[in-house]
Amino acid sequence: MTESSVSDHEDAARPRIIAIDGPAGSGKSTVARAVAARIGIPYLDTGAMYRSVAFAALRSGVDPEDADLVANLARDLVLTMHPDGTVIVDGFDATIEIRGPEVTRAVSIVAANPAVRSEMRSRQREWATEHGGGVMEGRDIGTVVFPDARLKVYLDASPEIRAARRSKEVADLSYEAVASDLARRDALDQNRTHDPLAVSEDACVIDTSHLGVDEIVDRILELMT
Ligand code: C5P
Repeated sequence: MTESSVSDHEDAARPRIIAIDGPAGSGKSTVARAVAARIGIPYLDTGAMYRSVAFAALRSGVDPEDADLVANLARDLVLTMHPDGTVIVDGFDATIEIRGPEVTRAVSIVAANPAVRSEMRSRQREWATEHGGGVMEGRDIGTVVFPDARLKVYLDASPEIRAARRSKEVADLSYEAVASDLARRDALDQNRTHDPLAVSEDACVIDTSHLGVDEIVDRILELMT
């Protein structure tokens, strides 16, 4: 049995999961949050968990490339993800910092670390069991974390549109800087050895390039019926 098909979630009460995966700027967070609110079920941003590990490494002066130190740090991390989006890392409110440029630069390196992925995957499965399921957003939810999710959606959009969306969110960076960071992160996330960003063969792919949030949410809710 491969590590990705570990049986711990098979033994659990099989929480009902809606998996929403895709690259940065595809609209995942906005859409996943809206779907969760419309159905009235919990929502988990798994990208924020990897960002929290990167934040903790930078804050304690640990080199994000130092696999063993970062793995230890991830295992010891006290991480609380509040439903309102507040993220508390080892007692520190890191909600703003985890979205900052330093963390964004380091996160894909940290996320390529298999020991970090294993730790985050267990925590994500625990979260799902505790909450009886929910909408989970990330890169590998449908492929690895919950391969038997009730519904798998893969959101995508052209690189230009994704970069334009992201550059609206980060006012202090130019479009070019955001576009090149996005391309670098896409390459790292798609080409890493462990759990790369990929489309699950049973996922519904939605190109969000020319769709509004409500249209995407309606489409996902239709897929659930
Ligand atoms: O979704 P967001 O852009 O905040 O994710 C930040 C980074 O976390 C991604 O670029 C990726 O490297 C990593 N990630 C991951 N697996 C997930 C969610 C995020 O590797 N399930």
